[in-house]
Amino acid sequence: MDNTGANLKVLYNREEVQQTVERLAKAISRDYQGKMPLLIGILKGSFIFMADLVRYLTIPAEIEFVSLSSYGKGMETSGQIKMSLSLPCPIEGRDVIIIEDIIDTGLTMSYFLNYLQNQKPASLKLCALVDKPSRRKVPVTIDYLGFTVPDRFIVGYGIDWAEKFRCLSEICFVENP
Ligand code: 5GP
Repeated sequence: MDNTGANLKVLYNREEVQQTVERLAKAISRDYQGKMPLLIGILKGSFIFMADLVRYLTIPAEIEFVSLSSYGKGMETSGQIKMSLSLPCPIEGRDVIIIEDIIDTGLTMSYFLNYLQNQKPASLKLCALVDKPSRRKVPVTIDYLGFTVPDRFIVGYGIDWAEKFRCLSEICFVENP
């Protein structure tokens, strides 16, 4: 129980999270040797993941963020994707990697992958910290994946519940919300 009254359980501690993020950065660094990919983070949930990931990269990269949301304050997706901060730069001809916190139903990423593909990047890959495959409604290919988790509501390491718990260094789930 934390001081907000929510019952949080640690799924992955700080060390496990860092080792996993380093593993993803190594794979990206190897695959993009000699290139400078454009990493597009999805706000707000990916901000800590992005910050740690880029510091483990051994290749140069450019960074942008967009804001996509479908959840509001609840625990269920509305299914309606809103883009409230759009891409500030053209991506045609660029090697783009999306940096996302969680793939759940897949609706958000399916929308965004399609949106980016229409702008003709040289390549387009998806890097996600957490996958919840049991909840999938549309297929999504995750090229770089951190953790596969059961159907639990995840918080911490940038990921919120009604704007709380983003600052935790661990990945947790909310028990009996
Ligand atoms: P999808 O469109 O795949 O259903 O949802 C993707 C988005 O929903 C994620 O980027 C994340 O913001 C939110 N989301 C999905 N599952 C969870 C969860 O367990 N916890 C939190 N806090 N957000 C989630």
